Amino acid sequence: METSIRLVCLDLDGVIYVGDRAVPGAVEFVSWLKERGISYLFVTNSTLRPRSFYAEKLSSFGIYATEEMIITAAYATYRYLLHRERRKRFTVFLLGEDGLKKELSQLNCEFLSEEDSRVSDYVVVGLDRKITYEKLCKATRDLLSGARFIGVNNDALWPVEDGFMPGVGMFVAALRAASGRRPYIVGKPNTFMLKLAMEKADAAPPEVLMVGDKLDSDILMGNRARVKTALVLTGVTSEDEAYAALGMLKPDFIVRDLGELLDLMARAY
Ligand SMILES: [Mg+2]
Repeated sequence: METSIRLVCLDLDGVIYVGDRAVPGAVEFVSWLKERGISYLFVTNSTLRPRSFYAEKLSSFGIYATEEMIITAAYATYRYLLHRERRKRFTVFLLGEDGLKKELSQLNCEFLSEEDSRVSDYVVVGLDRKITYEKLCKATRDLLSGARFIGVNNDALWPVEDGFMPGVGMFVAALRAASGRRPYIVGKPNTFMLKLAMEKADAAPPEVLMVGDKLDSDILMGNRARVKTALVLTGVTSEDEAYAALGMLKPDFIVRDLGELLDLMARAY
């Protein structure tokens, strides 16, 4: 492992914890980064919870983290729209819950209800557990009338304690089918969140290591942004899948868990 790494970006689920349990080596790995003065940030496709929730959850494991160190796809969507709409007031039709709405409320925007006959400037799609036919109808009509189509992420599934729930990707696919429109997806594997992280830490791609458990999101994002990548096997990807995918997706390192990554990095320092 090279010694030029100045920023480590960590996915949360399947990397730092699974459910409510920290993954072996996670606490030690992050403490080591902190001692060495290597910056670290957390990058997650999550849309439901506010950033403070993750900071508190990490702190409860003994991992030092503040709200500013968490980049969720919901927060990234706020930053993306802020970047696009600096001056004028605009309208949003949102499929999503309070966490996402809270992030977007920092913008100079008005949220339209499903009864509003005006066409929104943006249809923003996150995880919405109170989805109705009326909301899908409003979103479809706005998309057919030219509203911009933004998906917070495109994850088909959402991992929970006892298996999986359908994710944002299901809603995105439904609206794509109805409207024939293609969405802009803010979350992984888009490099937008990683760019936000690099900007925050003032780091260039060769100085960055992205650590994740998912090949088609964490590692693909890292490959696209030309940063170094490490795949851990504590989440959704098995060892067989990891090696079968080599050639298309190239993690620079495949490690059992963060404990093994710590050994690799500590040897180089
Ligand atoms: Mg993960």
